[in-house]
Amino acid sequence: MHPWISDRADSFDSSGIRRVFDLAANLKDPINLSIGQPDFDVPDEVKQAAIEAIESGKNAYSPTQGIGPLRERLQAQVGKQYPTHDNRDVFVSSGTSGGLMLSMLAMINPGDEVIYLDPFFVMYPALVQMCGGVPVPVDSYPDFRLDPSKIEAAVTPRTKMILLNSPANPTGVTASAADLKQVAELAAEKQIALVSDEIYSNFHYDEEFVSPAVYNDQTIVIDGFSKSHAMTGWRVGYVHGPTEVMAAMLKLQQYSFVCAPQPAQWGAIRAMEVSLDGYLQDYRRKRDLVVQGLSDCYELVVPGGAFYVFPKAPVESGAAFVEEAISRGLLIIPGNIFSKRDSHFRISFAAPDETLHRGIELLRELARK
Ligand code: PMP
Repeated sequence: MHPWISDRADSFDSSGIRRVFDLAANLKDPINLSIGQPDFDVPDEVKQAAIEAIESGKNAYSPTQGIGPLRERLQAQVGKQYPTHDNRDVFVSSGTSGGLMLSMLAMINPGDEVIYLDPFFVMYPALVQMCGGVPVPVDSYPDFRLDPSKIEAAVTPRTKMILLNSPANPTGVTASAADLKQVAELAAEKQIALVSDEIYSNFHYDEEFVSPAVYNDQTIVIDGFSKSHAMTGWRVGYVHGPTEVMAAMLKLQQYSFVCAPQPAQWGAIRAMEVSLDGYLQDYRRKRDLVVQGLSDCYELVVPGGAFYVFPKAPVESGAAFVEEAISRGLLIIPGNIFSKRDSHFRISFAAPDETLHRGIELLRELARK
């Protein structure tokens, strides 16, 4: 290790993901089902709004909490969603990731425990550790359900935060309203911070999306435009929750991210007016296509949201299976990147139909082997 590298930086291992990309780099025309972002482009009117912002000189820092017009619209939307929450403030963050980072920095002291489901979004354990916190993954195999009794069993006197993500990356599983309610009430009763990563809230296929904030008015909600409007590179997210917590997070944003990119924030205002119904229908259809194509030869849980399916590999090791798939030109992600277990793999169905058909065909062939 280089002598300048901190223990913090040294403690992370990103070799699993790097290995996938190294293997993929040699592929000519891969069937790519590995991408964690929509396969449509940013809607034209959103691009136009950002271009106009740049051309009219809206290129400077924005206020730390975001440009007024975007923040006002978000505050109005949140006010409509949670009319009984009287101290719920909103600010614009540098993507959902920025919001997640600030939530940890603002609330986690060294030794504090953070509960989340395994499989998990890769950033969660890393962010907890960056703040000296202790990651407490709760195994959710084989159905990936948010089981309130498992969450309750993981609570200790050191539990500071429960971090929820429904619909989830990498499983696509959505939590039921009843389970969310129980966990939200548990957090309230034990005075544990409840953070809800709702980045996939717009991709919800079978039922209405429900936030745990409905059942716990102290919930910190983190959302953003990356996935809903294919704006992953624009870095616009937003956070809402209790005034005091938002103030602490904003103070930290002032000394770190500073603000979300101003032109992208003007684009986000326009994005709030774009209907996502067409995309939603298209993604529901893609979900059904993949589930129908694979469920007779793979063990899988039908995803209620996001754009991922997380099937069990037909051999013992998910990583070994993914290597085999990649050697045949199919790019998928091994489950052990998102989990302590190495038994599953992630498919993203945010891809053109033609790619999905080719992927399904190859996966069926691999399952028969
Ligand atoms: N949370 C989850 C669950 C995600 O899957 C992602 C993106 N892969 C993020 C947060 C980060 O999104 P953003 O681009 O807004 O930082």
